[in-house]
Amino acid sequence: MQIVFFSNHLPEDFSSRNSDIFPEPPEHCPFHDCSLPVKMKKHGFYSRNYISKGFTIVLYIRRYICPICGRTVSMLPSFCLQHFQYSCPDIVNMLYELYKNGIPLKTYVESIRGYFPAIERRHINYYKKRIVNNRKLIQYGLNLMSPEFTTLGKIPENQAWVKDLLEKVWEIQPSIFHFDFYNNTGKSFMTLQNIVA
Ligand SMILES: [Zn+2]
Repeated sequence: MQIVFFSNHLPEDFSSRNSDIFPEPPEHCPFHDCSLPVKMKKHGFYSRNYISKGFTIVLYIRRYICPICGRTVSMLPSFCLQHFQYSCPDIVNMLYELYKNGIPLKTYVESIRGYFPAIERRHINYYKKRIVNNRKLIQYGLNLMSPEFTTLGKIPENQAWVKDLLEKVWEIQPSIFHFDFYNNTGKSFMTLQNIVA
């Protein structure tokens, strides 16, 4: 299980094993079928790649374990997305720029190669598709976050909806949006979901 938290530290600060920059261990086991009021314990770190504008680094992510059921949680800073190497702000920014400028994907990808040498069209297509496929979950989360987002849900066409969504996420700031969305839904907006909402 991942717990998303907001951090004012830079991603680079997570490139060494540093307990001090992570939240305290949960006081309860977060797994519902356990949830005993026993504080979780430190359980090492796992490493993951992190790609942002102009650099790739390894981040060390704190893990805690429940002493009762033995399951673990990882504490993920909100500038990271689970299962994605590219940073949350960069993924949102790429899509936002692409939609805003209305240029062909091939041209756009070539224009950002200087910052992201390994980026391919298929990455960006994948991000776009994930957001469209998650529309129900995302709109559900938006409705919980603020009543002003409910009008967004009335946009019939998916591409127009994505464009509006990206504008709003960019205004809020992607890391803050990711954190707020997680707090309201317990899920990441980019994690594959199948929900009926
Ligand atoms: Zn437990």
